[in-house]
Amino acid sequence: MRYRQIGNTGEKASIIGLGCEHLDGKPFSQVKATIDAALAGGVNLLDVFMPGTEVRENIAKAIGKRRSDVMVQGHIGSTDVRQQYDISRDLPTVKKYFETLLHIFGYIDFGMMFFIDTDEDYKGVFETGFADYVQKLKQQGDIRHIGFSSHNPAMATRVLKTGLPEMMLFSINLAFDLYPAEVNALDELHQGLDKSAFHGFDPDRAALYTLCETMGIGITVMKTLGGGKLVSPEHTPFDRPLTAAQCMEYALTRPAVASVMVGCQTPEEVKDTLRYLDMSESERDYTPVMNTLRNDFKGNCVYCGHCQPCPVGIDIATVNKYLDIARLDAKHISPSIRSHYAGLDKSGGDCIACGSCESRCPFDVPIIKNMAEAAQLLR
Ligand code: SF4
Ligand code: SF4
Repeated sequence: MRYRQIGNTGEKASIIGLGCEHLDGKPFSQVKATIDAALAGGVNLLDVFMPGTEVRENIAKAIGKRRSDVMVQGHIGSTDVRQQYDISRDLPTVKKYFETLLHIFGYIDFGMMFFIDTDEDYKGVFETGFADYVQKLKQQGDIRHIGFSSHNPAMATRVLKTGLPEMMLFSINLAFDLYPAEVNALDELHQGLDKSAFHGFDPDRAALYTLCETMGIGITVMKTLGGGKLVSPEHTPFDRPLTAAQCMEYALTRPAVASVMVGCQTPEEVKDTLRYLDMSESERDYTPVMNTLRNDFKGNCVYCGHCQPCPVGIDIATVNKYLDIARLDAKHISPSIRSHYAGLDKSGGDCIACGSCESRCPFDVPIIKNMAEAAQLLR
């Protein structure tokens, strides 16, 4: 397993986490076997958004004495009052469900303000006592860090700008990133993903990820496989289905992403998911699918790494990533991005303009020009 920092939280997550939704309604023996396989494979991050007591207890019992070996994303406001998975902002209800979760797990590593996608969700969290309750949970040590979940880039950006969250669970996959931000990607997922709506990387989504990188907010990813549709020959919006490994690689190469949560319900599914770790670069490579939409990406770095190796040792994708962040507001580049850039062994100024990278880039990125611009902006 490989591990990454979750932003500035000081916590390190396995790059593959376990989404536990599909363990809901399963017998304890199956829950235990699945959790055991995940932990044996080095998974240390579990997402537990389900409000039902039985599944929560089964997961906690399966973890047993290994509680300190795993981190739990527990969701505040996830209930089953009207339906199996429901959202509540009513404080007594919110407290009842979350305190049951606390009781079951002892403490929660990431207390996630649940599902902030709309203006109404935002008001329900920040204009009631909800956010105060969350802060109190942290002060009491019941939750170690404050996070939130969202599928909407504009709303996620607004939540981040309150300064309250330390991390974010966000839906990231290639299809969602191609939808304009104003489209409700979750609705599209339910109705069927439609390629005709894709117009290159949505700038608001790209800006959200780079904002996270700038602010030191770590992202954990949900909907990595687009609810299974991206890997389905029948439902994929692309000319061919992606593999699960390609979907994971795509999400893991977005800025600020620490971990992708993958839903598994058997030990075999866990083992199959973890095969990603042993795959070759070419097996994980998602650009062949992007190439079918080549013109949508022309000139824009997608951080795929195809341009390597650079003879002077520049990590071109990383320099391009910092450059993209700097370009968002070139007059006010954050000190943290300057310091990340300064920490690179080799940077844009080391480019000798040999051009070998440009011939390997599938998206015609003007790399030599970018290296010079990075050297000038980030010096
Ligand atoms: S410059 Fe091209 S090849 Fe290199 S990481 Fe960016 S998109 Fe990929
Ligand atoms: S052109 Fe610059 S960045 Fe590209 S491979 Fe040559 S030295 Fe490296």
